[in-house]
Amino acid sequence: MSDFAQTVKQQADIVKVIEGYIRLRKAGAQNYTGLCPFHKEKSPSFSVHAVRQFYHCFGCGVSGDVFSFVGKIENVGFPEAVRIVAQKCGIPLPKREFSSPEEAAGARQRAKLLELHEAAAAWFQEQLRGPEGSVAREYLAGRGLTAEGIKTFRVGYSPDSFNALRERLSGMADQETLRLSGLFSSKEQGDGSMGPLYDRFRKRVMFPIANESGRVIAFTARTLETGDKAGPKYINSPETPLYSKGQVLFNLDKAKTAIRQVEFALLVEGQMDCISVYLRGIQNVIATSGTAFTEQQVALLRRHTSQVVANFDPDAAGANAAAKTVALLTEEGFTIKIVTLDDGLDPDRYIRERGVKAYTAALRGARSQADFLIERARQMFPGQSAEQKVKALNYLLPHIRRMPQKLSRDQFAADAAQKLGIDSAVLRDELRQAALRRQDHVEVRTSSLSEVERVLLRALAISDPADEEARRAASEAIERQPERFQHLRAFPAMQALARRQANDPMDVIEDEGQRALLAETLLAEVKPPTDSEVLSAIQEIKERGIENRLRDLRVLLAEADRRGDVAELAVLWQQKMELDRALQQMRQRR
Ligand SMILES: [Zn+2]
Repeated sequence: MSDFAQTVKQQADIVKVIEGYIRLRKAGAQNYTGLCPFHKEKSPSFSVHAVRQFYHCFGCGVSGDVFSFVGKIENVGFPEAVRIVAQKCGIPLPKREFSSPEEAAGARQRAKLLELHEAAAAWFQEQLRGPEGSVAREYLAGRGLTAEGIKTFRVGYSPDSFNALRERLSGMADQETLRLSGLFSSKEQGDGSMGPLYDRFRKRVMFPIANESGRVIAFTARTLETGDKAGPKYINSPETPLYSKGQVLFNLDKAKTAIRQVEFALLVEGQMDCISVYLRGIQNVIATSGTAFTEQQVALLRRHTSQVVANFDPDAAGANAAAKTVALLTEEGFTIKIVTLDDGLDPDRYIRERGVKAYTAALRGARSQADFLIERARQMFPGQSAEQKVKALNYLLPHIRRMPQKLSRDQFAADAAQKLGIDSAVLRDELRQAALRRQDHVEVRTSSLSEVERVLLRALAISDPADEEARRAASEAIERQPERFQHLRAFPAMQALARRQANDPMDVIEDEGQRALLAETLLAEVKPPTDSEVLSAIQEIKERGIENRLRDLRVLLAEADRRGDVAELAVLWQQKMELDRALQQMRQRR
């Protein structure tokens, strides 16, 4: 680890950094716990050791330091993780170091693309304030957006020009990078090459899309044209190295704090709905942009909450995406409720016309996902014929099977039978089977180490010079007679720790399984062991070693006896007597 990484690690608080991604609760003098972001779970098995500055998941076994956490969750390499942590802690970065030229190039490109988006966002904002922006300002005023709101969401305007933005940005990057940014289009030429770049967004209201850290990575653009010239009402940035539609939740950067506070996320479809609701004080709101949720989006959201209230548009396309989203969230163990607003209104209009109070009341009246799905099944397959009922049932069965909890499946099945008016025994049985079929996920926690092993590991992990004696006793015993400890499950970790210089104990163990053993042990620790505890643990391990050896000898003796091998018997007897004596002496000394 470089000096810089070392410095960052010393200054960073792993609890604070991890809390930026997931909710943590204090779970002891030194520990925090939360839901693991690296595997699916409903009860927290992810722990953070505040003093020793590492994390460990009892469920999936991952462990490591602040850099390993950030690396995993942001899906970046070590140097990038160091930079991210440094930035979070306000530590100025030295000149960049990368592990490979590709990585350096990729990071440079990302940084450049972020710069271009930042510049574009600022420029669009400027255009909205300028004379050309008046038509956009009128539109936004009509949608009830105040100057304050426009500023908060950095809403802008792209003028009716093919080259205004290009001219503005062309000094910042080369053609290739400009092309990659997605801010420009070009037409394929007769010879197959790409033609010159021109502004992709023209005469549109520009809504920046930010990543979770609040950096602009893309735009949604709403047309202000009407009639034939208008083109699609909304266009989005294409997929770029910065932006992938399925991996972003609109407004999560602003909403995440509120989501954690109120412990649920309000999910709406349109960005305009999201902005409108947010600006009226309901800040835990995020938007999907009209498409069904992806697994990456679920993973993003799970770091902040596992409860969702969804308020989708009532139109058919909306309902389809909504049903898919509901299904996915259900399957992923979320608790989800669905709001349908009166008179088919979308959240934006509803909140503008009827006020925040009415909207909040509507949210409180949200229906459970089962009610929503059953209602939808009835709409899709209306009528009382047996054929329609079977279709409705076939629509519901997969949803029922997806629910992780048996209790909710039972309830869902019973509700569906009742509301669809299913009285056929066969269909009822089908429902019951669907409710039974799924095995509830069980989290198993095992601590597989014996008490003496734990004492040794803890001693070997001591960093405080005040307890140095205990550490030395353990490491010398292992270095001097490794064969006595070899049979222990945590032996590789012990050996690595015994040889460590001044390093952080979690750093010196490369094997993930071995590191997990140490992490589990340290998370359960209140204070380090004393030297006398260490000595008696070593003693006990030695005694058990002798006992094991004696057990082997008894088998060998019986074998030799059966064969009538007198010479062998004599040798074995000699060994047995020596071991018996050693054991006796050990026990007397205690
Ligand atoms: Zn885990």
